[in-house]
Amino acid sequence: MLYRELVDIYKRLEATTKKLEKVDILSRFFSKVKKEDLANVVLLSAGIVFPKVEQKDLGIALEMMKRIVQKVAGVDKAEFNKIYKKTGDMGFTAKELIKNKKQRSLGKKELTVEMVVTNLRRLPAIEGCGSQERKISLVSELLSNANPDEAMYLVRTILGEMRIGVAEGIIRDSIAKAFDVSPEDVEHAYNLLNDYGMVAEMAADKKLSGLAVKIGKPIRVMLAEKAPDLKTALESFKNPALEIKLDGFRVQIHKKGKKIWIFSRRMDDVTKQFPEVVKWAREAIKTDVCIVEGETIAVDLKTGKPLPFQHLSRRIQRKYDIEKMVREIPAQVNLFELIYIGNKNYMNEPLRKRWSKLRSIVKEIKGKFVLVEHIETNDYNEAEKFYKRSLSMGEEGVMVKNLDAVYQPGKRVGYWLKVKPIMEPLDLVIIGAEWGTGKRAGWFGSFLLGARNGDKFVPVGKLGTGLSDKEFKTMTKKLKKLIIEEKGRNVKFRPEVVIEVAYEEIQKSPNYESGFALRFPRMLRIRDPEDKGPGDADTIARIKKLYNQQKGRQSKERGSQAK
Ligand code: AMP
Repeated sequence: MLYRELVDIYKRLEATTKKLEKVDILSRFFSKVKKEDLANVVLLSAGIVFPKVEQKDLGIALEMMKRIVQKVAGVDKAEFNKIYKKTGDMGFTAKELIKNKKQRSLGKKELTVEMVVTNLRRLPAIEGCGSQERKISLVSELLSNANPDEAMYLVRTILGEMRIGVAEGIIRDSIAKAFDVSPEDVEHAYNLLNDYGMVAEMAADKKLSGLAVKIGKPIRVMLAEKAPDLKTALESFKNPALEIKLDGFRVQIHKKGKKIWIFSRRMDDVTKQFPEVVKWAREAIKTDVCIVEGETIAVDLKTGKPLPFQHLSRRIQRKYDIEKMVREIPAQVNLFELIYIGNKNYMNEPLRKRWSKLRSIVKEIKGKFVLVEHIETNDYNEAEKFYKRSLSMGEEGVMVKNLDAVYQPGKRVGYWLKVKPIMEPLDLVIIGAEWGTGKRAGWFGSFLLGARNGDKFVPVGKLGTGLSDKEFKTMTKKLKKLIIEEKGRNVKFRPEVVIEVAYEEIQKSPNYESGFALRFPRMLRIRDPEDKGPGDADTIARIKKLYNQQKGRQSKERGSQAK
């Protein structure tokens, strides 16, 4: 298929904000695409080159892109900057410059979807000496064959900034409509495969139903919602269970005979980093085939007490000296879920049954491979005692779980509710910054924080405190690679870095499109991308809810002061 045909679709998608219209455009398109192009076209429509399950970074940052566009368009820096400064958009700059290009290259080929995908998929593997030049040449080859519109969308795809308003839900509904299958089946398949390209192919072949869990292939994990307080959480379910909420690293353990896989919450294979967990899983799980989940924490060598997540994150990133790490930072697995056993899928069974099955197949190894602390009660006093104990142990809080609910992969459904102390911090994405002055010249001095709103991030405040000089520098280095737009001292980033932010209160604000601003935000920590990605950031809806709760509390306080 010609890339031009896909570009026509991009233009139509960009021209409307209506979701139904987008689904209409995409579903018609998908249903006509030839089978050999379908998976690629679906991924490119979602603005990605690799399926989510592979999580590969193309490794082309804004600066490199500027060089490539300049070179392909045959212009000097001044001419490039004239357009770039005016628009602040790399894609649009590429379009304009290629439009004005005087010399048409001879022997220009028409771009196909396959050429685009093939060249771009080669990028992440290029490493070592001369890698920049080889990367530049692959992208230049595409751009020099592109017409102005093609160039614009190519650049946007490479920078991960499509701006066509196609979120995962739209892809799901479009596949469903194109191939006359239910959106639920599409979503279920996506939760198991994490690859909309493959899901579309299966939908086209009518092979979605009966899609089986595969041992060794990660499943998207179920997520929790936040509850305002323990009472509300407890009252949300007829039959609640409470568990300690540990501050660690979610693992999904797959077992098939002696073979063990360990996957992170983001479905990365981390088996190599945790050889002792592999050993324990072999010993302690008394069944041949299963998938279980738990929270891995780091424990203090001397006291055996839990350590904060940062310690464990060193182990996750480690690729060598693993045995040394195992000795220095001992891990402990706390199991809380059972998804699959034998050849039976337990996802649609209630938690009560999953938990009792989990207990029956695990022979705990004290201090190493254990079941999470779990109580089942409706009694507020008992629940509060458990919650207080969790906090006094230095844990984050508790999880209140619905014993009657199924396991819903990939979703932040309300079957699990996390309860933490109030005015809890928010997880926000750094979407922009200002270059610092004076002592902070050369670094970013203040960061623009974004909360999630659909597939966009909207500003809710600026943060300039809570970081040491060293952290400012590290952050600048990290963020420089994510620049997508620069105007004067203001910079915009691809939304990738998530930080945990504490603040005094939420205020209404006309200064931000969101209508809210955080008062005195300060950074608590940079989130490990394994633990929290931009998709896990807090939403505007949540900020609004917190604002309303805060208002309720304040008027109550005022009322009691008046008495
Ligand atoms: P959060 O990351 O704040 O959205 O909270 C959800 C995460 O808490 C899960 O993904 C787990 O990694 C972690 N967690 C800790 N303890 C538990 C527990 N008892 N049950 C479920 N998740 C837990």
